[in-house]
Amino acid sequence: MHTVDDDTPLYDPDHWDLTDFQVELCQRARSLAASRFAPRAAELDREARFPTENFRDLHQAGLLGICVPRCHGGLGADYMSYCLAAAEIARYCGATALTFNMHVSSCLWTGALADDLPMNDTERAAHEARRGRHYRRIVEAGKIYSQPFSEGGAAAAGAVPFGTTATPVAGGWRLNGKKIFASLAGHADYYGVLCTEDRERRSRRDTLYLAVPADAPGVRVVGDWDPLGMRATVSRTLLFEEVFVPEDEALMPPGVYFQAATRWPHMFLTLSPTYLGIAQAAYDFTVTYLRGEVAGTPPVKRRMYPTKQIAVAQMRILLEQTKALWFQVIREARADPDRDQLLRAYTAQYTVMENASELCRLAIRTCGGQSMLKSLPLERLYRDSRCGSLMLPWTAELCLDRLGRECLYNRGEHDD
Ligand SMILES: Cc1cc2nc3c(=O)[nH]c(=O)nc-3n(C[C@H](O)[C@H](O)[C@H](O)COP(=O)(O)OP(=O)(O)OC[C@H]3O[C@@H](n4cnc5c(N)ncnc54)[C@H](O)[C@@H]3O)c2cc1C
Repeated sequence: MHTVDDDTPLYDPDHWDLTDFQVELCQRARSLAASRFAPRAAELDREARFPTENFRDLHQAGLLGICVPRCHGGLGADYMSYCLAAAEIARYCGATALTFNMHVSSCLWTGALADDLPMNDTERAAHEARRGRHYRRIVEAGKIYSQPFSEGGAAAAGAVPFGTTATPVAGGWRLNGKKIFASLAGHADYYGVLCTEDRERRSRRDTLYLAVPADAPGVRVVGDWDPLGMRATVSRTLLFEEVFVPEDEALMPPGVYFQAATRWPHMFLTLSPTYLGIAQAAYDFTVTYLRGEVAGTPPVKRRMYPTKQIAVAQMRILLEQTKALWFQVIREARADPDRDQLLRAYTAQYTVMENASELCRLAIRTCGGQSMLKSLPLERLYRDSRCGSLMLPWTAELCLDRLGRECLYNRGEHDD
């Protein structure tokens, strides 16, 4: 039987060859999200309120440190294991999964990804000591990090250096700038800010990744937040005015973020688990609804109509295509992917974001008018799913741009 809150994993461990660790991690994430996050999701969405209580639960379940290396007290999940667990959370609350991703990125980028990139011994030792401070805050004290890099210009698309600047001063940096759509604004304990070291000629190579304490003098959260979807992410604007950031708050040594962004491009694909989970949730809801089994609604079956069966068949095809491609891409994510792997990553990002939205559209049309009621989760899934393809740096448009160009031109090739 299909129910919206059943315990069926997104990926059957036997069919997809998951490790015991992945099975346990997904189970932990799914049972927490199904029992605690799902019942809270509608109210958080209605009030556009940050899911503080969900983050408290994530900490208690050990999941705030999901990508903190084991030697630092975390669960030590690698890229793929994290993606699988995050997608399970998203089936029950997309906004929690998306904000969780912003937090986890601060551990994944400084952890497993940074371990793959070259550093000299001095840099490696300094990085090890600094990330240990961040990880202790997360694992022991439940501190939350966020990931503000969008600025409203071309920097978040990777085209130009970040406009937020860090000027070296005694003992650290002085930070000035603005970040838009900063999920967790006003709720994270530390903002993991991407900025450019202030030099005469600014370069993306001089990107710094700094943890800015939310209560540091000069940090302000401004603007309102009343969006279409992903309302509980509270993605307001952050201003940094002459904020002193101590040098120990560097999340990566200078130059390492630039290397990660160019050599570990799958780092930008971690927004996709959220939308994969939403796609699965829309499909699950539709099947349950047409079978007359959605809790709290009359047990009226609608599955006998051929048009509905065809729509569900189309949804199943979209979902299977999306899940298969995404699984391959998260499995092959690594430093220095080859050309096919990179093109497949763009394809997977595009596919997940667009298909999640399409699945939700089909679900609404197929289930009918009642499915639009706020008492049921489908209308929220529909609104949340629309946000995926807007998210930089790999928006649906930019994935198409890159795919088209990189399919037709080899590296370094130009037309005369
Ligand atoms: C729910 C939600 C949560 C978010 N959370 C965060 C967060 O936590 N941290 C964060 O940093 N950002 C976050 N974002 C921001 C997001 O990643 C984008 O930066 C934001 O949606 C861009 O909005 P914009 O209208 O200013 O985009 P614009 O910069 O105006 O871009 C509009 C579109 O134009 C295209 N485009 C942009 N630049 C180029 C280019 N150089 N070449 C070709 N095409 C281009 C892209 O397709 C893009 O979608 C969030 C967004 C949403 C919707």
